[in-house]
Amino acid sequence: MQKYSDLVEREFGISVIDTHYYRPNLASSHLISHENSAVFVDVGATPALPRLLAALTQKSLAPEDVTYVILTHIHLDHAGCAGALMKACPNARLVVHKSGAKHMINPTTLIDATISIYGQEAFDHLYQEIVPVPEDRVTVPEDGEIIDWRGRPLQFIDTPGHARHHFCIWDADSKGVFTGDTLGIAYPELQADPENPFQIPTTSPVGFEPDPLIDSIERLCNLKPDYFYLTHYGPVKVSETSVAALKEMIEVHETIGLEAAGNHELLKEKLLELYYQSLEKNCPGFCDKARLESAMSGDLELNAAGVEVWLKRKHKS
Ligand SMILES: [Zn+2]
Repeated sequence: MQKYSDLVEREFGISVIDTHYYRPNLASSHLISHENSAVFVDVGATPALPRLLAALTQKSLAPEDVTYVILTHIHLDHAGCAGALMKACPNARLVVHKSGAKHMINPTTLIDATISIYGQEAFDHLYQEIVPVPEDRVTVPEDGEIIDWRGRPLQFIDTPGHARHHFCIWDADSKGVFTGDTLGIAYPELQADPENPFQIPTTSPVGFEPDPLIDSIERLCNLKPDYFYLTHYGPVKVSETSVAALKEMIEVHETIGLEAAGNHELLKEKLLELYYQSLEKNCPGFCDKARLESAMSGDLELNAAGVEVWLKRKHKS
């Protein structure tokens, strides 16, 4: 697979677009083309707009051909560009989880929450303007609902755990699931064995909940998919070993969080060690800890912050 092109074509009309969020190869958008129509699944942040439109041109499609813009959830590295893209694609409907829809129609709270996590400077750099989506262009599917997209069924599966406003999309034609953040992150540069991808959980604030996340992963595995299409980053082959390793990591977050006892730097160290041990199991000697840390960059900080928020919430109730 080419890893460093903005658009990589896969089977079943699926293409992976690098949205260049933060750095190359970190956040993707998936473009599916079928019967002269197009669907985007996750769209990156607003600066990704020219790349998304260029991908349509590359596939000989026009903005008018976009039928659906689907968001797995409303975190802005997945959803930030939705309003701008909807403006550019006059026939598209936005498909979003019922708990996320109001924040795409009026993004004020979402913008404030994102600024409180990332800071104003990073927000201005990474996300820029968040364009509201007109309410009459928004579709909210129920759990299990199937949208018949010109004969290609797309099924929406409610998948809490990374966030309550998260669903995944089962594409029976490709036997693929578009997983958003439910199956974690697979950094392309840390993949030693395509048969057994290395996936790290994403526990970013403020919605991480380990038990629902594990249930969601199991629900998706029951569909017997061939591929998971991760927003971070691209397709990975479904491997029982990799899924088991991911679930194991999610399970120990509570113990590690409690051991760190409110010491943020210690929690980061412990999480890095957890991921490193899992990477060593995946492929011994493939990568040292410093390289893992540099690949994760801001994600380690986000994961630690998300674990802390969840622990606080849990022990308050
Ligand atoms: Zn997310």
